[in-house]
Amino acid sequence: MPHASEASHRTIACVSFPRWGHCRICKWLQFHKDYPLTENGFFCKTHTKSTLLPARLVCVCKKGHLDDFPWVEWAHSNRNRPVPICDRPKIKWVGGRRTSSISNFKLVCDTCKAENSLFGAMNSKGIELYNAEKGEFYTHSCTGEIPWLQKQEQCTKTLKDRTQDKNSTEVPIGVIARATSLHYSKTIRGIIIPELAHPIIKYLQTEEYETKVKAYREIDESIGDEKIAELILKSNKDFQIAGYTKEQIIEFMEKLEERQGGIEINTEQDLKQIEYNDLISNESFQDEQIEKEIEIQNIELTDELKKYFKHV
Ligand SMILES: [Zn+2]
Ligand SMILES: [Zn+2]
Ligand SMILES: [Zn+2]
Repeated sequence: MPHASEASHRTIACVSFPRWGHCRICKWLQFHKDYPLTENGFFCKTHTKSTLLPARLVCVCKKGHLDDFPWVEWAHSNRNRPVPICDRPKIKWVGGRRTSSISNFKLVCDTCKAENSLFGAMNSKGIELYNAEKGEFYTHSCTGEIPWLQKQEQCTKTLKDRTQDKNSTEVPIGVIARATSLHYSKTIRGIIIPELAHPIIKYLQTEEYETKVKAYREIDESIGDEKIAELILKSNKDFQIAGYTKEQIIEFMEKLEERQGGIEINTEQDLKQIEYNDLISNESFQDEQIEKEIEIQNIELTDELKKYFKHV
C-alpha cells in the first residue's frame, strides 16, 4: 500500500492507525507518525531494527469518532495511587505472559514509576482519568478525531430529547483496536419527501437546469431568481402545458435553498422528523397532469384503527 506521503493521482492515500506501538524488545509504548518512512513499518526509537507492535486499544464514541487511547494519562491514573503526569513520561507495556486478556497487562511509566493495570480501560461508562490539579478523577471526553480522513470535528452529546448538548461530548470508550466490532456500516432509510418530489423541485436539481442558469449568468451577471424563473418557464414546454407559474418556480427555488442550507441529517431520526413534518403539512399537489410519486390525503379512521392512531 502506498504511503499517504506519496499521495498523488496514482495512489490511494492511507494512514496508519493507531499511532502508538510498543517495541518487542524494550516494551516502550511510543507515538509514531501517520505513515512509516520505509515500507517495513515503524521501529523503536532505541532498537532501530525492532518493529513496533500496534497498540492494543483505541477509543471510539457513539458518533463514530476514533482516537488513540490516552496511554500517558491512563498510566498515571491508578485508582488507588493516582499521580500527576511527570515531565517526560515514558510508558512501557508490561505483562500478559500467561494470558492475552487486556486486564492482565499494565502500563508502567519508566520516568516516575507510576503504574496502572489495564483493568477497567474498556469500561462502557468511559475512561476514568486523573486530574492532578483538582485532585479528582474525570471521564475522558471525545476529541472528535476522524483519523481516516485526517480530520477533526467538534463532538457533541445527543441528549434524550435528541437535542445536542454543545458543552459535552459523547463518552468515548476503550475498544480492542483490531476488533471486528470496531466498524459497523450505517444505513439510513427514508421515504420520498413529498415537497421534494414535486416536478419543479426535481427539475431544479437537474444538470440541464444548472447548465441553463450558468448560461443566463454568463449573459447577465446580476440576474435574479425572478428572471431565471421566467426564462426557465419560457424554455420548458412541459411546465407551460402543466400550467406552472413563474411564482411557483420561485417558491420552489427558495424551498430548495432553505432545505440545502438549514437542515443537518445525521441520524435516521433526523430524516424521520423531516418526513413527519412533510407528511402532516403537505396535501397532494393540485397537479393532475404529471405522474405523482406519492399521494397524501386525510382519511377517516375506523373504530378499530382509532385504538392505535389519533389521525392518519
Ligand atoms: Zn525498544
Ligand atoms: Zn511518569
Ligand atoms: Zn465523538
